[in-house]
Amino acid sequence: MSTTVSAYAAPTPKAPLEPTTITRRTVGEHDVLIEIKYAGICHSDIHQAREEWGDGIFPMVPGHEIAGVVTETGPGVTRHAVGDRVGVGCFVDSCRSCAHCKGGREQYCTQGVGTYNAVGRDGEPTYGGYSTHVVVDENYVLRIPDALPLDVAAPLLCAGITLYSPLRRWNAGPGTQVAIVGMGGLGHMGVKIAHAMGAEVTVLSHSLRKRDDGLRFGADHFRATGDPATFTELAGSFDLIVNTVSANLELNAYLGLLTAEGTLVNVGAPENPVPVAMFSLIQGGKSLAGSMIGGIAETQEMLDFCAAHGIGAEIETIPVDRINEAYKRVVDSDVRYRFVIDTSTFAR
Ligand SMILES: [Zn+2]
Ligand SMILES: [Zn+2]
Repeated sequence: MSTTVSAYAAPTPKAPLEPTTITRRTVGEHDVLIEIKYAGICHSDIHQAREEWGDGIFPMVPGHEIAGVVTETGPGVTRHAVGDRVGVGCFVDSCRSCAHCKGGREQYCTQGVGTYNAVGRDGEPTYGGYSTHVVVDENYVLRIPDALPLDVAAPLLCAGITLYSPLRRWNAGPGTQVAIVGMGGLGHMGVKIAHAMGAEVTVLSHSLRKRDDGLRFGADHFRATGDPATFTELAGSFDLIVNTVSANLELNAYLGLLTAEGTLVNVGAPENPVPVAMFSLIQGGKSLAGSMIGGIAETQEMLDFCAAHGIGAEIETIPVDRINEAYKRVVDSDVRYRFVIDTSTFAR
């Protein structure tokens, strides 16, 4: 039987979020019902609720950093059991047969189904984590290890994997020089994970305002990009730069910080095209790349890695009725470093 549950939704584009109820589908053969405990607020929730990335489906219940506990399983479920601590990230289904799905890169499946602002295979819109419960196919549900508290684990499902995947793919580790550009919700996870992987980590932030935090998270160096000397002194220094900033940066200057054959990976998405001088790439044989979240198996690997290294997000927990205030503060970059909604504050 489908169930009616509490949620917070944007009724129309750009409108403040407000309390509502939504219907969750009947728990199917391979579904699990999850009682959501915490839901992170990702900047992309705001972009989508405000239709800054194109048309959305309204009412919209955002939230793709979900941590909770399984309370019911379908008869065919083998991967999870009632009582298990679990998480759900940015997608809840994919075609399962294309090369990307078969290769563990489900995030690049062209038939993927987003956790919200998407239409599921049943033809119904998907609703995200700003809610008390969600029903998800077991194959798109992650195990959260006991060592990770659920509140600090929630943001790992988007911010954590968004940084873990490129750091692994481009071999961050002992002997490598890694720079993380921007130290917000994404960047602070990059600092912690790259440090745990054994890399020498430099934060490139606009100012030195967050320096103490950066060093506490494991950065070896913290440099201000507002100071032109940073770009001359660090020229040719890095094997890998991960850019988390969604504002337009002077990419040619950052490419100049790479050593020969180094890679600049972008995980932030500026609204407008960014000019690149081809000589910035040709001289030194450098690569300019992008990366988007990670696959299911890799997300599990990330959660296990974070548990083993005691890594969680730095969070500010809020009751659900402060979502709109939190949105404003995210847009103003006034959060250290991720808001997490405590879903026990929903009306039941
Ligand atoms: Zn996200
Ligand atoms: Zn696929």
